[in-house]
Amino acid sequence: MARHQLDLDRIAAGLPGYELGDELGRGGFGVVVAARHRLIDRPVAVKVLTTADLDPAGGSGGHGSGGRDLRARFLDEARVLAGLDHPHVVRIYDYVETDGLCLLVMEQLTGGSLRGRALAGPGAASAIGVAAAVALDAAHGRGVLHRDIKPDNLLFTADGTPKVTDFGIAKIVEATAATTTGLVGTPRYMAPEQITGSPLSPATDLYALGVVLYELFAGRSPFPPELPVAALLHHHLSVRPLPMPEAPGPIAEIIIAALAKEAGWRPASGLDFAVRLAAATTAAYGPGWLSASGVPVRLPDEVLSAAGHQPGISSGPGAVHGGGRPAGVAGPPAPTVRAGRRRRPAGGGQPAGGRRVALTVGASLVVAGLAVALVLKTVVLGGDDQDNRQAAYAGRTVQFQGLADAAGIALGPDGALYVSDPGDEVGQGQIVRLSAAGQAGLIGGSGPRPTPTGNVPSPSPTPVLGDGGQSLRAELREPAGLAIGPDGAVYLAESDNGRVRRIARDATITTVAGTSRSSSDGSVASTGAALRAYLDDPTGLTVDAKGVIYVTDGYRVRRIEGGQISTVAGSGTESGSAGDGGPAINATFYQPSGLAIAPNGVLYIADRGNDTVRRVDRSGTVSLVAGSPGKSGRTGDGRAASSALLNSPKGLALGADGSLYIADSGNDVVRRIDPHGIISTVAGSASYSSDDQEGALATQVSLSGPAGVVVDPSGALYVACGDGSIRRVSTDMFLTTVLRGPPDS
Ligand code: ADP
Ligand code: MG
Repeated sequence: MARHQLDLDRIAAGLPGYELGDELGRGGFGVVVAARHRLIDRPVAVKVLTTADLDPAGGSGGHGSGGRDLRARFLDEARVLAGLDHPHVVRIYDYVETDGLCLLVMEQLTGGSLRGRALAGPGAASAIGVAAAVALDAAHGRGVLHRDIKPDNLLFTADGTPKVTDFGIAKIVEATAATTTGLVGTPRYMAPEQITGSPLSPATDLYALGVVLYELFAGRSPFPPELPVAALLHHHLSVRPLPMPEAPGPIAEIIIAALAKEAGWRPASGLDFAVRLAAATTAAYGPGWLSASGVPVRLPDEVLSAAGHQPGISSGPGAVHGGGRPAGVAGPPAPTVRAGRRRRPAGGGQPAGGRRVALTVGASLVVAGLAVALVLKTVVLGGDDQDNRQAAYAGRTVQFQGLADAAGIALGPDGALYVSDPGDEVGQGQIVRLSAAGQAGLIGGSGPRPTPTGNVPSPSPTPVLGDGGQSLRAELREPAGLAIGPDGAVYLAESDNGRVRRIARDATITTVAGTSRSSSDGSVASTGAALRAYLDDPTGLTVDAKGVIYVTDGYRVRRIEGGQISTVAGSGTESGSAGDGGPAINATFYQPSGLAIAPNGVLYIADRGNDTVRRVDRSGTVSLVAGSPGKSGRTGDGRAASSALLNSPKGLALGADGSLYIADSGNDVVRRIDPHGIISTVAGSASYSSDDQEGALATQVSLSGPAGVVVDPSGALYVACGDGSIRRVSTDMFLTTVLRGPPDS
């Protein structure tokens, strides 16, 4: 950027009512000068764009844009700020264009920027984050994206009130221009969609705010330091943020959620972010943190109540306000956020405080080789129907006692792992979510339910499906395969109930396919309504990118789309191993288990009873991939997979490079078929070892009945084992335990 000699006389001429002071700062474009209104004595900051900036030939034009573009941007900023009247957005008083100068007169913020500001404590970081999130919510409500959230653009008033500033590269969301025309933003805080030039949304700003908060809490970046820009951009696009043990679990959870690669997995809005961050901070530090933070904020009631404050009652030294009224004066709250804040669709619930679900979850987690005993006080679940959940769980404590068994495993785009536990007893299945931040929580099924006498209650004679209700109230009978749909919902094969279930992100559970034999259309009807089909012991399940569900059903594999079910493999009621090379629907299978579908539509089927893995190509032809029908064994590593032997293969997963991972359960190992068709063992050893094997080479560690496998975008492998443990194998082949099974196994 060219550094211009500021022509103070010209500025003064443009602003006759003001007395000019010192330069306050410089940024990407424009110099900011202090000034004071002569009559009302108000200190202001004047952002100045000079003629030299406006002249493309002048060679300045920061951000590499022409002068006209620059002026348009400057005017845009003025318009955006003029339309926003929010306690945590810098206020604009005037905009003047004169004699080749553009002058933006703003409130003066003398407290410096967030960069390099010493914070009183973690409560202060949360308070600033919450304030910024509600400010962004207001901007988004006006259809404006900030697009350059970073510590330099969060400034403070003299009393420490945080304000979002510098809407210099803001754009209106609805306009087609919401897609960037160049790389605009700051790489360190840039969301994936900003890097790829995809359409931006409010979630783009929430990602950047997530990075800012991550840095505040962790004291370091979410990605390794000193990455060159290209590598940093790659990390934003496809590498999971480093875990942040520095922050309390619930806070880390919401911050990591904001860093989801897919916008749809981030908080639903700035307000949602604010509410969840406030609730997480309350869970971590108890109510009172907001007043104690010393950060003056003005927040909507729902955020205040999530922060542990009684709406309508001001607490603390006048610092925390629910509305525009003076502290300590009760009464109906004045609307704090006037700038078109979008409310959640009415559902009769207040979405704020209710988001805190009273579940106490104790889990012993081992993350990255470190034994970390966590007692999780709160599980924060998304969703709108908080009233139900509160009514159901208020005052009750549901202990998550670890997994009895682990069958299916899937990875959400937010980096969380989802695991199904068929349970030791009928009806005690559970679905558990392990967040990228290392928190474990129950999201479906009741799990084991010991009575006060210590006896296990006997299962109800007919399954408690709980369809349409809360997933934590449904009884799950041997959930096995599970997958995350493109809609973010968890789909699971409930084998002992003969159903495919769906747990929506609001934690309601429904049935997608399957019914009891008596109310079905008959077990062999090959097409029909999915809800009228009888499914025989469905264990394997996968969902493709379009949301089409594939599930195993007896000797067949079925396909569910648009409420209809059809058959993709298996001729019917006869088991067998015939038909390779011909149409899959005429072939026989023995016990189809794990399923995986490639982006090109090829479906892989672990035919457990035959000790083989088979594939169905897009033309519907089935062929053998690995194993030999009816011959179990462990041989063949280092050679073509077609000549290898397997033993009861269960779960399958595809890596980003096209390699196929097989939970070779009878052999207690995980095999991998690389893109050239060569098979090898990547986890599990032939000889049993009972030592603590943390951090050992994965092929020297004994696994117990690996059933489910999944690979993350970085290539790390996660294995769900029959002893209820979840293991992780890094790309350099070292094994760590993510979740231990019960101690007696
Ligand atoms: P740019 O778009 O050029 O980055 P900014 O709006 O971020 O411009 O302003 C550049 C610098 O000027 C800021 O980093 C800050 O130091 C200072 N500044 C900006 N606005 C104000 C203000 N309202 N009060 C005090 N200083 C300000
Ligand atoms: Mg700036």
